[in-house]
Amino acid sequence: MEDQQSSAERIVETLKEFHTIDVISDPQDAVIKIPEMDCELLIVSLSLDNFDGLRLCSHLRSIERTRDLSILVLVEADDNTRLLRGLDIGVNDYLMRPLDRNELLVRVRSQLKRRRYTEQLRDSVEQSMELAITDSLTGLYNRRYMEGHIAPLVEKAANRGKEISLIILDIDHFKAVNDTYGHDVGDEVLKEFSKRILQNIRGIDLACRFGGEEFVLVMPDTDLSFAFMIGERIRQCIASSVFNVSVDNGSLELTCSVGVACLEQLDDTPGSILKRADQALYRAKNDGRNRVVAEAA
Ligand code: GH3
Ligand code: MG
Ligand code: MG
Repeated sequence: MEDQQSSAERIVETLKEFHTIDVISDPQDAVIKIPEMDCELLIVSLSLDNFDGLRLCSHLRSIERTRDLSILVLVEADDNTRLLRGLDIGVNDYLMRPLDRNELLVRVRSQLKRRRYTEQLRDSVEQSMELAITDSLTGLYNRRYMEGHIAPLVEKAANRGKEISLIILDIDHFKAVNDTYGHDVGDEVLKEFSKRILQNIRGIDLACRFGGEEFVLVMPDTDLSFAFMIGERIRQCIASSVFNVSVDNGSLELTCSVGVACLEQLDDTPGSILKRADQALYRAKNDGRNRVVAEAA
């Protein structure tokens, strides 16, 4: 943001070898355009003709899109008042006029470096947060996340007299897949299985990989018969179409067994509901697999 043409030209001349630069000379333009641009650094002259560049800086600091934008201000050598106000608003760095080319280059470079470092840091924090709650193979929630969230969900339902159901799914004879085709094919099956689960549940349901080839779904506001229906829908979705994986003939037929239980008694805990769902799963396996069993208390 610079309205003195000669100064703008000198800045562009100095930086253009290493950076892409846009010059905006109209302050009104700047207010509208900058939030829409995807820029890394803003250089603002504080000696504009009819506009206080600091107003632009404080405006940009106040809106979401540009809150973290790096700002470098250009101040007149004797204008300490403006410089202090600028630092107060939170501009990142400043340069005194007359501009020294090398100093300009160095300041710009260090702002960009700082910004890129911050972005990298944020990405890696986000990544490790995701790793902490999800299972890296399937992208479903991991067991630890589920165990931390199941208790408050059950408690909330109990306190409000609402329904909540749990479903446990276990792939039938999965060990044979690994033994016959190898662990990698087993992994492909787990991914596809998880995808099909997600296709059949709502956004508010929690789907978790509980261990090896065992999955748990937490379904708020869902009673036993409805949960049974969802379990049945998933069972059919698994059994009715083949899994396309890297095996010689291209596909595998698979089934799963499903156990369902819901919050019923006042003294029900996540543990007691999960236990009933697990007993139901055990019965489904014993009764011949590829079926859904619901267990009432
Ligand atoms: P059932 O019908 O009784 O459930 O039989 P099953 O073979 O599915 O059950 P079992 O519990 O005996 O075997 C589960 C297998 O899951 C054993 C293990 O090798 C495999 N497994 C566990 N975790 C993973 C994984 O992350 N990837 C792969 N590929 N296999 C896994
Ligand atoms: Mg199994
Ligand atoms: Mg199992």
